[in-house]
Amino acid sequence: MVSMPPVYALPAATAWRHGVGPPRTVPDRPARRRPAPRCAHYAGRVSNPSPVSPVQAAALAAGALPPVEEIRPGVWTLAVPFRGGVPDATLVYVVAGDDGSLAVIDPGWSDGGELDVLTTGLRQIGRAVEDVTLIAVTHLHADHLGAAAALRRRSGAPIAMHPAEVHALEHARADAEQNERDARTWGVPDDRLDGVLAVWGSGRQLGQGTVEAPFADLELEDGDGLPIAGRDLRVLWTPGHTGGHVCFVDEPDGLLFTGDHVLPRINSGIGLGGRTDSNPLRDSLDSLAALEPFAAFEVCPGHEYRFRDVVSRARTLAAHRDERTRHVAGALDALDHPTVFEVASRVPFSGGIESMSGYLLASALSQTVFHADLLGRADELRLA
Ligand SMILES: [Zn+2]
Repeated sequence: MVSMPPVYALPAATAWRHGVGPPRTVPDRPARRRPAPRCAHYAGRVSNPSPVSPVQAAALAAGALPPVEEIRPGVWTLAVPFRGGVPDATLVYVVAGDDGSLAVIDPGWSDGGELDVLTTGLRQIGRAVEDVTLIAVTHLHADHLGAAAALRRRSGAPIAMHPAEVHALEHARADAEQNERDARTWGVPDDRLDGVLAVWGSGRQLGQGTVEAPFADLELEDGDGLPIAGRDLRVLWTPGHTGGHVCFVDEPDGLLFTGDHVLPRINSGIGLGGRTDSNPLRDSLDSLAALEPFAAFEVCPGHEYRFRDVVSRARTLAAHRDERTRHVAGALDALDHPTVFEVASRVPFSGGIESMSGYLLASALSQTVFHADLLGRADELRLA
């Protein structure tokens, strides 16, 4: 299992909005109960889910962009490369209303505001960029949101996003500065600290210059319906990857649009948006449990390929996170007031902490803090 955040995730804030270092308490979220899969059970026997779409899987294997597909009447998917990299393509979804309206879910990456791939894809289904009437975004990372501003300029369509993502974009500078102060307390060796600060601290850029205020014209809250005539697409708030990540549930069509919350092969990482008051690890576990009602749905993720049985996939990811928590507990048992870096050195991150630098290292260290906090043992960490 891939265990680190994907390379396409933007350098982004993590940890909490208030205070330096880990918070002492994590607010309870009683609304959701997570199941209790045992890590070894699931991690040991569950493989990656099979693709629903053979052409998407074949394209992924070949390093090619998958073709436009109509996955339900009036619902299509197409792929937009990220930073020109085909393997990291974003899967874009297009949903037609019965009055000629046209929604785009996650328009994907756009470096300089060009929409060439999206334009070509829409042309293949007989539509144009100017026809778009809604831009619905699962989360703020540039491989999902990056083309939204340009698409809004061309079409006049509103951008719809969760308010936590808007807040994160508005407070990106302050979050980055707080991240930098936090990262300096983690005990990172001097020769690797600059690399961490460059991507995790004040050098961090959430939007890569492609976002424009107002970041959203419509704010999406949990349970909201998307304004697409004749369709029933509901917002499911799934914080964890970022604080305002949402999925979209199309119950009549049996489709679940999952953004980066759940991908078929990649573990997309946690706490990669703006700083939040809650522990992103706890949030992600709750958000994985929130997918239990959708076992029969076809999953439309933001990357890789469509698949089924999202519940098994969600349990596998939860089990993987449980395993990490146990490794952190073991390190805290074995060490006397260790630094974050010392604890992380005992966690079997892919490739090991010694091989990491920059963004991957910063993400691994922040995750370590989340796990210690989940255990209620953050006060055992020695902040430098
Ligand atoms: Zn993504």
